[in-house]
Amino acid sequence: MKTSLERAFDEAVGPYVEPCPTCGGPCRGANSYIKLGPGEEIPRCSECGEFVDREGQTLCQLVEGGVMPVILIRTA
Ligand SMILES: [Zn+2]
Repeated sequence: MKTSLERAFDEAVGPYVEPCPTCGGPCRGANSYIKLGPGEEIPRCSECGEFVDREGQTLCQLVEGGVMPVILIRTA
């Protein structure tokens, strides 16, 4: 049995409930930040088009109520 909170979470997450087979996202244990040098762009998953890190792991972190926005840290 799911709690009402879990049901509300399922509804909020909606279409993102199926994890991507390529990058594994979105998932609860994902990193939600990435460090990039000048001029670098955040890589995207070839399967789902969401942001991934250099290793191809998802940056889409599931949190209560949805997905964390990716935090981009520019390194000089
Ligand atoms: Zn993906």
